Amino acid sequence: MTKEQITNAHWPPETEIPNGDDPTVCPYCSFPLPDDEQLVLHVGLRHYGECTEEEKEAFRDAYVEEEKALNRFRIIALGGLVLLYFGFLIIYALLAG
Ligand SMILES: [Zn+2]
Repeated sequence: MTKEQITNAHWPPETEIPNGDDPTVCPYCSFPLPDDEQLVLHVGLRHYGECTEEEKEAFRDAYVEEEKALNRFRIIALGGLVLLYFGFLIIYALLAG
């Protein structure tokens, strides 16, 4: 199985648009997306070979921003886990001692 077959195995995913919602639609495959940022990421990931240079540049910028947000989330999540661990450890030490 090639990478392309794996990538397209579940494409397009099942989507349901709430009544009254006006989704942003991909100009290449008509897939509905919730906002412009998601559209930029979708075009860059699904249609990189056929999109324009401006779309590629927007995708690279959005990708970098997404990566920064993910790194911030990972650091905050790790900090939360460390606090939770030591919090339970201190509570255990107080109750057991
Ligand atoms: Zn598309």
